[in-house]
Amino acid sequence: MSRIFYTLLLSSLLVACGPKQLEPDADFVCDNCEDWNLPQAPFRIYGGTWYVGTAGLSSILIEAGEELILIDGGLSQSAAVIDANIRSLGFDPKNISTLLVSHAHFDHAGGVAAIQRFTGASVYSSIEGAKTLSSGELQPDDPQYLPGLTANFPPIANVVAIKDGDVVTVADVNVRAIYTPGHTPGGMSWSWESCVLDTCYQLVYADSLTAVSAQGFSFGENPAAAQLIDSADKISLLDCDILLSPHPFFFGMQDKLENRDEGNPFVNNVACSIYAETALGWLERRLRAERGENQ
Ligand SMILES: [Zn+2]
Repeated sequence: MSRIFYTLLLSSLLVACGPKQLEPDADFVCDNCEDWNLPQAPFRIYGGTWYVGTAGLSSILIEAGEELILIDGGLSQSAAVIDANIRSLGFDPKNISTLLVSHAHFDHAGGVAAIQRFTGASVYSSIEGAKTLSSGELQPDDPQYLPGLTANFPPIANVVAIKDGDVVTVADVNVRAIYTPGHTPGGMSWSWESCVLDTCYQLVYADSLTAVSAQGFSFGENPAAAQLIDSADKISLLDCDILLSPHPFFFGMQDKLENRDEGNPFVNNVACSIYAETALGWLERRLRAERGENQ
């Protein structure tokens, strides 16, 4: 049996027979969920930083001494996929001591409760994000809030609320929290350093900065527009060698994976400012549409 085949077989068995605690509390259904949850072979981004998410939803694993840090948990039904990815890299998911969340939507926070139960990890988020994560219900000031709509996620216990600039330290890894609201009132981006020998890069997991909402919400008439502008400014000014974000297409993951033989295509010190500029363009189009102007 070839090694690749064996690895694939093993991964699928792990997903099929994964730990009971990682089975979804409920299958959250959305138009994109099935595609987003398709498997993605995990890979090293740089140094001790790895991609362990699904094809459409990022989860990032950071080695920190004997411990592991995980950013984002995908959908409720992604937890078992993430677990299998981590195991296939040779890590033990039980060593995840720290879970960081970008924003409290079902497609990034959905798997966090199960992974927390399985690993006993501490979960960190912004103050506003912690409220939503703890309840599993969007707050009325979330652009995607709709009364009665249950596009929510399993509530997460004991979320540690931190503020802009706080640092989460695990062994020799310091992850800085950058408060970047707008897409949600509690959006948080995260930044840390990974090294190979003496070559160190600053990685940024920039939260979603998309101006998307439930019907009837106006970005222009809410703090969300000003928040997005501030957040984009913050991201553009960061020390940033490698951009990552909650949806892999935001940082061109598939294209970059196809070009891996030409150095490390993830290293690009203008990617954060391009990301911010793109977000401001989306917001501008959105505000024009809200005013009924031509796009
Ligand atoms: Zn979102």
